[in-house]
Amino acid sequence: MPEGYCVKCKAKKEIVNGVEEVMKNGRRAIKGKCPTCGTVMFKILGGKAAPGSTPPPDASAPPTPAAAPSGTPSTS
Ligand SMILES: [Zn+2]
Repeated sequence: MPEGYCVKCKAKKEIVNGVEEVMKNGRRAIKGKCPTCGTVMFKILGGKAAPGSTPPPDASAPPTPAAAPSGTPSTS
């Protein structure tokens, strides 16, 4: 579980029930609760390019269907 800063406890706490969310600006954050007081905690993860995360959309090439053409002329 990730750690975040609880403003109510004024201390670093482990974020419980943390879920990763993508904000409007494309940044990722962990949203969860403080295990002590239950205050909603929000931890913003560093920039968009986090190591080991999903690759940028432009780098992924569209899957090309390798199916053979169905209109094969058969001469018999
Ligand atoms: Zn707290």
